[in-house]
Amino acid sequence: MSEAVLAAIGLGSNLSNPAEQVRKALHALGSAIAQTRLIKASSLYVSKPQGPADQPDYVNACALVETHLSAEQLLQQLQRLETLQGKIKYRHWGERVIDLDLLLYGEAVIDLPHLQVPHPWMTRRDFVLKPLAEIAPHLTIPGVGRVIEALQALDETYLYENERPL
Ligand code: AMP
Repeated sequence: MSEAVLAAIGLGSNLSNPAEQVRKALHALGSAIAQTRLIKASSLYVSKPQGPADQPDYVNACALVETHLSAEQLLQQLQRLETLQGKIKYRHWGERVIDLDLLLYGEAVIDLPHLQVPHPWMTRRDFVLKPLAEIAPHLTIPGVGRVIEALQALDETYLYENERPL
């Protein structure tokens, strides 16, 4: 079996009871992916939508998993969980039942057409960095620095009152 890698996952939902959707996906991350276990899950945060403004607020969270899967296998599993949970893509950056992003895969840098790691938008989003900083402030974002430093460097905010854990 390949060596275990620590990966960070970003979760978001703004449809069909978003908090419940995020909790369900957190549970699935820890129970429904082979060779993968949940190490930590953040609190749930509420954020304003990025992209089209005529959509509900989001609930966001982050998780750390330890996995023996490759990054591509893990992405496939995240997409399988999204489909199982009923994800339908309506429009770019639009409303969704669940979104699972592979934020970090160890310290790997991956630039494939269907998979970029670190997730290209993660350093611009406080609704990603804040929950991630809650569970892994000192994790390295390759090419950027530590999660906590990236959060401190942010000037955009989507989170309510900068922080509103549920
Ligand atoms: P979205 O529906 O906005 O979550 O976008 C999903 C698309 O982003 C899929 O086609 C993925 O192949 C692609 N993608 C690229 N990098 C990543 C990543 N790090 N995590 C999740 N999806 C990714």
